[in-house]
Amino acid sequence: MQEQISHEHQTKRITIPEAEKILGQKFKCLDDGFVYLADYMGGDQSIVQAARVSYGAGTKKVQEDEGLIRYLMRHRHTTPLEMVEFKFHIRTPMDCWRQWIRHRTANVNEYSTRYSVAIDSAQKTPATEWRMQSTINKQGSSGFLEESEGEELSKKEEELHKLSRDVYEGRLAKGVAREQARKDLPLSTYTEAYWKIDLHNLLHFLGLRMEAHAQKEIKEFATMIGEEIVSKVTPITYKAFKEYGLNSTRLSELDIVGLKRYIKGEDPQIVAEEVFTNKREREEFLIKLTKFKD
Ligand SMILES: Cc1cc2nc3c(=O)[nH]c(=O)nc-3n(C[C@H](O)[C@H](O)[C@H](O)COP(=O)(O)OP(=O)(O)OC[C@H]3O[C@@H](n4cnc5c(N)ncnc54)[C@H](O)[C@@H]3O)c2cc1C
Repeated sequence: MQEQISHEHQTKRITIPEAEKILGQKFKCLDDGFVYLADYMGGDQSIVQAARVSYGAGTKKVQEDEGLIRYLMRHRHTTPLEMVEFKFHIRTPMDCWRQWIRHRTANVNEYSTRYSVAIDSAQKTPATEWRMQSTINKQGSSGFLEESEGEELSKKEEELHKLSRDVYEGRLAKGVAREQARKDLPLSTYTEAYWKIDLHNLLHFLGLRMEAHAQKEIKEFATMIGEEIVSKVTPITYKAFKEYGLNSTRLSELDIVGLKRYIKGEDPQIVAEEVFTNKREREEFLIKLTKFKD
């Protein structure tokens, strides 16, 4: 195998001092998960460099780098963002990974429980953190169970984790193949993976997984990636992403009709009733309106 040489202090590549500082630094998520930046290629400067190929040298004189990046983000000219790459090492429970892996635009290599013994760690839920089913959003949660009830659930969870691990290890001890012995391990079992993705697709992932509808567990990882890592590697782009993407609101044609009437002083409930025939759209419109109030 080729010897790996450290090019510290002599690389000609774009390096970002703030990113260099956090390379390999584990950011803890949930009770036993983590994410760290294993490697990266490029930064805000690489986006500007690529964009100027298409816009020509003339733009350089009139537009500052930050202005150019913000322009690209506003107008969804996304290919320059694909010039920046991130490689992460993550450790996450399998149920969270199941949502994560749906993002098809990344390169992945996951810990193999056919080849190796499954990681002996399952995500535990503290008594105060059992979330109630939301009555409004069928895919969401709202509020928490009473702690006394939560204690019972956490105790049962511990028993289940122990039993499933004992059964798994018992099978292995009898010589059962790892690929079959694993089948009754819970989804809370931690797995690890290398996950490499370009900035454009990473921002798409963060846009979906940092926002309010994402499940709490994956949101914790995504927020850590965004706030602790992407913000260091590509600070200008990340700021623009938050302003134009994550924290922005998309308005449909009907939203604009309703918003115009609301601005004129009409009652929002009546506007919503009259503009939207669909109950869900009506509710979403009213939620959007709250963003325009103090
Ligand atoms: C809140 C929430 C709830 C969800 N609920 C469910 C659910 O109930 N059931 C379920 O199955 N999934 C669910 N998902 C997963 C969701 O449908 C997507 O699979 C997931 O978010 C990945 O999004 P993506 O396909 O845009 O991302 P990526 O796979 O990263 O793709 C990025 C973009 O690349 C393009 N692309 C990639 N592959 C293709 C392709 N083969 N063909 C065309 N274009 C492509 C698309 O433009 C896509 O948006 C949910 C996701 C969220 C955030």
